Amino acid sequence: MAATSRGATPVPPESRPRLTVLSGPSGVGKSTVVAHMRKEHPEVWLSVSATTRKPRPGEKHGVQYFFVTDEEMDKLIANGELLEWAEFAGNRYGTPRAAVLERLEAGEPVLLEIDLQGARLVRESMPEAQLVFLAPPSWEELVRRLTGRGTEAPEVIERRLTAARVELAAESEFDTTLVNTSVKDVARELLALMNVV
Ligand code: ADP
Ligand code: 5GP
Repeated sequence: MAATSRGATPVPPESRPRLTVLSGPSGVGKSTVVAHMRKEHPEVWLSVSATTRKPRPGEKHGVQYFFVTDEEMDKLIANGELLEWAEFAGNRYGTPRAAVLERLEAGEPVLLEIDLQGARLVRESMPEAQLVFLAPPSWEELVRRLTGRGTEAPEVIERRLTAARVELAAESEFDTTLVNTSVKDVARELLALMNVV
């Protein structure tokens, strides 16, 4: 039987876990939920995106993101190395293709945490993917979380809130909505959707 480049036997497509995409407005709590989930279930593989955004305090290259220059992002796009990419609030973000396909082929549960435009692109290229929307309990709470995080300048928060209105209006395009009232509950629901628990 043919081996993959990692030496593992490929899992037949029909028995592979589906790719799961988690989207939702900036500040809703996507990173918090994913970090909580992965602490208890490190076997869930989270794609690390490339971005032209500058690191926030505490963010490390190769952990939260691959932080790249505009020129490096141009090359990734031109070489077809990204499964999808989008511009969000003044920066570009993209999902490295090879790693995602490799993990799916190995039969591992794969999670992408990407914006609405990226979710739409994944739906087009991989219709079997499940799209999960993370919604805030209310608009006021979203503003509170985004502002309270304290990582963005006021004009960047404004840009992200403008994008958030567009993202919230697209909720019906997703297969499932989870409301982020409790991080613990949402993480558990997400794991169940991914058939991990
Ligand atoms: P995103 O990744 O969606 O941009 P973050 O995970 O950075 O959002 O969360 C934004 C802010 O909201 C953070 O300060 C985080 O601690 C807080 N937060 C996340 N989930 C909850 C929750 N369920 N209840 C209260 N605060 C939350
Ligand atoms: P942040 O700058 O807050 O980390 O991310 C901003 C937005 O970009 C979030 O909605 C996040 O989900 C999204 N994002 C992160 N990585 C990717 C990616 O690879 N592709 C796309 N399309 N969006 C991404």
